[in-house]
Amino acid sequence: MDIAVKQMEQTDVIVVGGGVSGVAAAVASARQGAKTLLIEKTVCLGGLATIGLINWYEPLCDGEGEQLITGISEELIRLSVKYSYENLPAKWGGEGKNPIRYDRFATSFSPTIFALALIEYLEENNVKLRLDTLATYPEMEGSLCKGLLVETVSGREFFPAKMIIDATGDATVCHRAGIPTELGENYFSYVTHELSAGLSKKLFETEDFYNLRHWRNVGSSLGGKGHPEGMGMIKVTSADVITDYMTLGAKRVLAHHKQMDKNKKDILTLPTMPQFRKIRRIIGDGTFMGTEDGVILEDSVGRFGDFRKSGKRFCLAYNTLYNSCVDNVFGAGRIISAKDEGWEITRVIPVAALTGQVAGTAAALCINNGCSAAKLEVKELQKVLEANGVKIK
Ligand SMILES: Cc1cc2nc3c(=O)[nH]c(=O)nc-3n(C[C@H](O)[C@H](O)[C@H](O)COP(=O)(O)OP(=O)(O)OC[C@H]3O[C@@H](n4cnc5c(N)ncnc54)[C@H](O)[C@@H]3O)c2cc1C
Repeated sequence: MDIAVKQMEQTDVIVVGGGVSGVAAAVASARQGAKTLLIEKTVCLGGLATIGLINWYEPLCDGEGEQLITGISEELIRLSVKYSYENLPAKWGGEGKNPIRYDRFATSFSPTIFALALIEYLEENNVKLRLDTLATYPEMEGSLCKGLLVETVSGREFFPAKMIIDATGDATVCHRAGIPTELGENYFSYVTHELSAGLSKKLFETEDFYNLRHWRNVGSSLGGKGHPEGMGMIKVTSADVITDYMTLGAKRVLAHHKQMDKNKKDILTLPTMPQFRKIRRIIGDGTFMGTEDGVILEDSVGRFGDFRKSGKRFCLAYNTLYNSCVDNVFGAGRIISAKDEGWEITRVIPVAALTGQVAGTAAALCINNGCSAAKLEVKELQKVLEANGVKIK
C-alpha cells in the first residue's frame, strides 16, 4: 500500500517529546533564535512529571547548601509551583506557607496545573507546538538526518529540519537514526493519585493542597521492594510488554480499591503513560558512570548532584548527549549516555531539564556554525550556556 506523505514546512530544530527535557530543549533552542518545533504524541505536556503523575521535583542543590543546577531547570521548578501549592523551602525562594517536607531545593507540585503552565511557557518563548503527533522514523542520508516522518490524524507527514533533539524518554528517534543504545531494566511501578475521606478532612483542616493527592504505588519501591514475585526485571521491548505492565497495574489498583468503602474514596488520576524509569538510553561519545564525584571536567556543560545522597557534585559532559555516528541528532533527558549508577542519577526531572537546555542551545549553535554536534566548539557552548544562567563548573 502506497501511503501519501504530506511535506511540511522546513524548520531549524525539531524537538521530539514534550516532557520536561523536551520543553527545556525547545525553549533553549528558540531563545538562541532557532525556529523550533516541539512534537508531542499525547495531547498534554510534561511527560512523566505530569501525565505520569511523578509530581516531585528532585533537588537542584547538593544537600549541603550549594545550588548546582540553575538555568531553565530552575525556571521549571519555579513554574511547576507558580500557579499551585508548593513546599519549596523559603531559603530556596519558596513562599514558606505550607509545611516543608524536605529542606533541599525540591518541591512537590500539581501535575495538572504544571501541564497547563508548560503550554503558556512554550508560547512565551516562541516555540511552535504540535500535539497528537507521533514521530515515527527519521529520514537518514548517510550520517545526516534530513527530517522526521510523523503520524497524525490527517495522515503521514514529513517535517524537514536541520537539527533534531530526541527527548522521547525512550530514545526512539536516536535508535532509528542508527545511534547505538542500551535497554534499561525496571522494577514494576504503578502510581495513582487517590483521595480518601481521611485526606479530604486533613485538606480542609490544613488548607494545604499537598494533602489532596495520596501517591499510591501498587508496584515496588525505588530499590525493588514489592516487585511481583517471580517476575524478572522488565525491559521495554514491545507494546505487549507495556500492555501487560499497565493492565497488571490497573488490576492491582482495582483489587485494592475493592477492599475499601466505595463511598469514602476516589482515584483522582490514573497514569496515562507507563511509569518505567529507564526504557532505553543512547550510547554516546562519552558516558557518565556516576563515579565522577568532585571531578571538574574541561568539557562540562552543567552541574548536578545525586537526588539520593547529599554532598555529591558532578559535571555534565557535552559528549554524553550525542554519538558522532550521526551528525545532527541529540539525546536529551532520561535517555542521555549514562550507565548503571550514572543513569540512576541523571534520569530525574532536574537533570533531565538541564540536559534539555544544553541540547537545545547546542543544536541552535550547530546551525549558526554550520557544524555537526560533535564538531561544535565546547568553549563556545559553555560561554552561551553561562550567559543563559547555567552553572558550568
Ligand atoms: C516510578 C517513577 C518515579 C519517579 N520519581 C521521580 C521523582 O520523585 N522525582 C523526579 O525528579 N523524578 C522522578 N522520576 C523520573 C522522572 O519523572 C523522569 O525521568 C523525567 O520526568 C523524564 O523526563 P523526560 O523529558 O526525559 O522524559 P518523559 O517525561 O518520558 O517525556 C517524554 C515525552 O516524549 C513523548 N514522546 C515519546 N515518544 C514520542 C514520539 N515518538 N513522538 C512524539 N512524542 C513522543 C512522550 O509522550 C512524553 O511526553 C520517576 C520516574 C518513575 C518512573
